[in-house]
Amino acid sequence: MQKRKHRYDRNSIILCALVFFVITATAFCMIVDGREESARKREQEARQNQELEQSRAEEQADAKAEKERAEALSVRPGVPVGTLQPDINEKAVYLTFDDGPSENTQKILEILRKYDVKATFFITGFCEEYRPLIRQAYEEGHTIGLHTYSHKYEEVYASEEAYFADLEKVGKIAEEQIGFVPCFVRFPGGASNTISAKYNKGIMSQLTEKIQEKGYQYYDWNVDSGDGAGNSKEQIVAASATDQYSHAMILFHDGRSKEATAEALPQVIEYYKNLGYEFRAIDRESFAAHHAVLN
Ligand SMILES: [Zn+2]
Repeated sequence: MQKRKHRYDRNSIILCALVFFVITATAFCMIVDGREESARKREQEARQNQELEQSRAEEQADAKAEKERAEALSVRPGVPVGTLQPDINEKAVYLTFDDGPSENTQKILEILRKYDVKATFFITGFCEEYRPLIRQAYEEGHTIGLHTYSHKYEEVYASEEAYFADLEKVGKIAEEQIGFVPCFVRFPGGASNTISAKYNKGIMSQLTEKIQEKGYQYYDWNVDSGDGAGNSKEQIVAASATDQYSHAMILFHDGRSKEATAEALPQVIEYYKNLGYEFRAIDRESFAAHHAVLN
């Protein structure tokens, strides 16, 4: 009897020990699992934080670069713009478009995107409905310059005051779209135009000086695509393609009715690409082609 009781006791002890062991082992496993789980969570959190910091740093770098780009392109009185003597060992081509925006601006932007080349748009107050294209062009890396608001020779060349009042108006359009007033200007008819003499003798001599004093620079051209005269696609290609200049500044138009310009553009781009020219949007350091002032 006594012996049997002992056996029961022993069995109970073994059973208890077994139960204890199972419970302990389970608890141990749960603790280990829990620790692994929280380690995994911590690792994941650290990774997410790192990614967040990285994207924040990238955003800040982008914003800084955007700000610097805007500053470099904006009008700052007293800070000179452009050079008249570019490095002749380089081969650069500046595609410049006047009189936009219009429906043709959209077509031209598509072509520039396709060929991955940058250009410059000298804008006007025309075609209000296409003004968002100014922002689009800027965001795609092109430069925005000012042509005039009204483009009416009799108005803008009537006096210095009239010219700058008009320039301020077109500058506001640019500012609305891209956030600043650019320092790049193209005179209607170029600095060499003589039509202005009909309205004011000597006005171009005054304006070409005054504009630089005010922190702008003006850009004429050394290659005329002839699209202003309503030339055909073939004529535009022929007139635009020349290896005569190390820095070619080509005059095009992206106003209404300039479909032939968009049609000619791919061939002009291919011509300069094949000759190894670099396509540049005008910036603060760019070559400023100046015509002789004749009025
Ligand atoms: Zn024009």
